[in-house]
Amino acid sequence: AKRMGRNRFEFFTQNLQAEIVNSKRTADEILAGIERDEFTAWYQPQFCARTMQLTGVEALVRWQHPTHGLITPDRFLGIAEELNVVATLDQLVMQTALKDRMRWAAMGINVPKVSVNVSSRRLHDEALIASLKGLSITPGELCFELVESIFLDDREAITDINLEQIKALGIDIEIDDFGTGHTSIVSLLKLKPKRLKIDRQLVMPILESTRERALVRSIIDLARSLGVETVAEGVETLDHARMLAELGCDMLQGYAFARPLSFDAFSQRTIDTGWK
Ligand code: C2E
Ligand code: CA
Ligand code: CA
Ligand code: CA
Repeated sequence: AKRMGRNRFEFFTQNLQAEIVNSKRTADEILAGIERDEFTAWYQPQFCARTMQLTGVEALVRWQHPTHGLITPDRFLGIAEELNVVATLDQLVMQTALKDRMRWAAMGINVPKVSVNVSSRRLHDEALIASLKGLSITPGELCFELVESIFLDDREAITDINLEQIKALGIDIEIDDFGTGHTSIVSLLKLKPKRLKIDRQLVMPILESTRERALVRSIIDLARSLGVETVAEGVETLDHARMLAELGCDMLQGYAFARPLSFDAFSQRTIDTGWK
């Protein structure tokens, strides 16, 4: 038994060391990847639940690594956070998305709005507003997706000031992953977001579970009574899409329509399927 214990311990420390070496290597790779322009935005379309017209895209960060290929954010956002470079990635994704929207327009593809994920770090950056002012944004073309936890932050005062200024610049605020955090109805009212994005943990079970269906219904009803739009994420089948439309959800996003796509793949799909 003693032997086994020791082996287990050695196994554990070796693993831990490998992990530390790994994350150190990943950290260096991330910094080099930023230098080498390997990070970019992929796009997942969103549709009006009633008319099925394209309402916009969510831009999602991807790492096109020269040897490891395409890497999704779950593999690097944690380390990027520790390195303090998430705001850099957010900024890069936003600039790329705005530029790509113009490129689509030049190709005759109308993408009404691009949504980007904004980390707490970026929202609290004092230079944020100044940098956004230089962009000349058309109202409605850009949306910031913020997770609920940002609003429970202790740096609340800065958040409030920045949020008001962001709205004044014509950028819409959307609460991401809604239903998983602890945002109260009161703070929701105070914030006046343009949209709520209902988390896929609530959306995915709506066909089988009356509990989640009732929850999603009440979120949609609440949002509507406050004049706030709703988007469902994780819409994996057309049955889900139909149910959500019946419940009164405004917009839909998920694998039922498309996975996140590169600029080129998105352009091609738009032409092939007639998304408009
Ligand atoms: P999120 O904001 O909740 O983004 C939606 C995630 O769900 C995406 O994963 C997307 O690929 C995935 N998804 C879309 N449709 C479906 C579906 O029908 N079923 C299921 N099971 N999943 C679906 P992705 O691209 O791997 O991004 C993961 C998370 O990383 C995002 O979650 C977001 O929190 C974060 N993230 C992505 N891009 C950025 C960024 O540019 N900046 C920041 N700060 N965070 C980002
Ligand atoms: Ca999001
Ligand atoms: Ca989300
Ligand atoms: Ca989510």
